[in-house]
Amino acid sequence: QYNQTPQPPEPPRQNQNPLTGAPYTPRFYYLLEKRQRLPAWMARQDFLKLMQSNQVLVLVGEPGCGKTTQLPQILLDAGYHVQMGQVRAICCVQPSPLATLSASLRICEELEVQVGTFVGHVTRFEDRTSGDTLLRFLTDEALFREAMEDPLLERYSVIILDEVHLRTCETDVLMGILKMVMQRRPELKLLLLSSSMDVKKVQAYFEGGAPLLQVPNRTFAVEVFHCQDAEKDYLKAAVRTVAQVHTTEPEGDILLFLPLEDEIDLACQLLRKESVHMMNFGDLQVRALYLGLPIMETQRVFEPAAQMKMMAGKPSRKVVVASAIAETSLAVDGITYVIDAGLVKQRAYNPRTRMEVNVVTPISKASALQRTSLAGRQRPGKCFRLYPERATSDWPEKVYPEIMRSSLTTIVLMLKRLGFDDVVHFDFVDPPSPEALMRALESLNHLGCIDDNGNITEVGNQACRLPVDPQIARMLIEAPAHRCSNEALSIAAMLCSLPVWLRPNDAFRAANEAKARFAHMDGDHLTLLNVFHAYKQQIQDGHDPSRFCAENFISIRAMRHAEIARDHLKRIMESIGLQMISTDFQDKEYYPNIRRCLVSGFFMQIACLESEKRGAYSMLRDGQEVMLHPSTSLGHRPEWIVFHELALSSKLFIKTGTQIKPEWLLDIGPRGYFDSQKISEKSSARSKLEKLTSRRSEG
Ligand code: ADP
Ligand code: MG
Repeated sequence: QYNQTPQPPEPPRQNQNPLTGAPYTPRFYYLLEKRQRLPAWMARQDFLKLMQSNQVLVLVGEPGCGKTTQLPQILLDAGYHVQMGQVRAICCVQPSPLATLSASLRICEELEVQVGTFVGHVTRFEDRTSGDTLLRFLTDEALFREAMEDPLLERYSVIILDEVHLRTCETDVLMGILKMVMQRRPELKLLLLSSSMDVKKVQAYFEGGAPLLQVPNRTFAVEVFHCQDAEKDYLKAAVRTVAQVHTTEPEGDILLFLPLEDEIDLACQLLRKESVHMMNFGDLQVRALYLGLPIMETQRVFEPAAQMKMMAGKPSRKVVVASAIAETSLAVDGITYVIDAGLVKQRAYNPRTRMEVNVVTPISKASALQRTSLAGRQRPGKCFRLYPERATSDWPEKVYPEIMRSSLTTIVLMLKRLGFDDVVHFDFVDPPSPEALMRALESLNHLGCIDDNGNITEVGNQACRLPVDPQIARMLIEAPAHRCSNEALSIAAMLCSLPVWLRPNDAFRAANEAKARFAHMDGDHLTLLNVFHAYKQQIQDGHDPSRFCAENFISIRAMRHAEIARDHLKRIMESIGLQMISTDFQDKEYYPNIRRCLVSGFFMQIACLESEKRGAYSMLRDGQEVMLHPSTSLGHRPEWIVFHELALSSKLFIKTGTQIKPEWLLDIGPRGYFDSQKISEKSSARSKLEKLTSRRSEG
């Protein structure tokens, strides 16, 4: 037996924190008492017994029952960090950076330790852990990267995969990797957490079927109301429903689900305005919750509405306006009313165009139930659905695993790097379509990351070290040759950051004017570079960058994020031997060099102008029609564009595009990639490139 016999943890006797030696504060005991009432805590005896006797365990419990925050601590208390006489760490993998950060900060608070000491976290661009960290919270992506350095993950005694019911692409593939690692390391324990009972497939995936422990539910009845007819403007309907609940329903907080970040911000603005007119019914406190928010702001959703603030003799009420993240990942306490627009933003992948787009789609029936049940966690509640019941008949029963609707380039490259040569036969929980896998292999081959035999190349190894998608990685790797390392780095950091431009509803025009001040006529990538330079200049001149950002409607969070990402990427570039070379700003090749460098990474994302009048472009490989997004800073419609992403709304739009020259495609693109027979007959690029090639061979 490798583990010490687990002892049921006793509440600490002395008034002293064993981790730090410092005395516990009263808040510790206050939180402890709350923790001990959580269902996951109460199930700890059964849990430890099953952990002891199994290598893999699946644990199901409703959102908020204490899985994420309590189970790692229970394992720590029971001595699971000591394995075969060695101190190892317990790893908790979350599907998003926000959930990672939130869990790490919360547990530090509960244990009264500093972040980065005994408890810490690793996300894409941040590592707040030390050699002593016993509870390590990681994003799924971060665990992938650790596996590349340490394929058997020997630093860990237990690995917890959280939210496995979401079936994100990364979690799915991690399950496959861990399944192999466990064969080589029989002492490694794997704990899979789920907020939904739908885990049969996951259980069956493991040898002999993983046992299941269900934490007892204690939900109350929730009364459900549907709209009579579909609401065209669900945002307006949502705001109206919040107001109605606030003015007519008894005490209790509200959780409103909307699909898009912009809509959440807008709804918050509208509700704050509205709340002034509803003072007679008590103070309404509005909080937003979605992935891009700063962590401190998201933690505010957990604070109770300030009860002291009685207004007109009524207690105050909190309304949390949230994305799908609040469905299971971040369960907010005290919700009595759920208002659900019934929509979610989802990744969709089209293997033909090889592009991922985000689309707003109806939620699954399972999600609708999950959202509803959140209203009944503490007492009976109500759920207002902003859609008619009949609309749900053609909704999917549950969400399809993300791996079936994602671009697999990054995942396939990582698998190759980890030594899984035959990715087509990798033991996936649900295998993606062979077409998507073939496309990923093909793209990696074009990018020079794997050779014609499917073996990883030097470029591929370098790309694996850079925590960005392979196209950006390729751009960074090629940057020294194009003499624009520093600029490519800044652009890459900006592309990885949050949305840069703020679009406040009441200052739309001023925001657009501000944006125009930074616009580069050759394209959005260069505009982003201008913004980054201007921001850095402010700091260099000793000015307060937050003022500069506010005046120009630039998101300070995005800029700070980009700065951190840039530093991180720069360190890696230097460590893998990429030189920091730049062209002099006065040199007329300064911008062309950068644009060529963009093509070296994004040659698979080129569009060619078809109709000046309609502003229609065609994508080269499949001839699909795309338009320029109205937000672009391109002042005209260039004939050739390299772009970063597509957005799907009424039409397919190019976002973040920059003008290029067709000659560059032939010079910089991989050999044969732009041969005319590879280009769609529907695209005029075919004949244009043909002409160019023949003119060249004549010349
Ligand atoms: P689960 O993972 O099972 O969904 P959690 O462990 O995240 O549940 O949450 C347990 C309890 O702690 C819930 O009541 C939740 O609202 C609360 N909680 C979680 N994170 C925080 C936080 N950062 N601040 C305050 N309360 C929190
Ligand atoms: Mg959780």
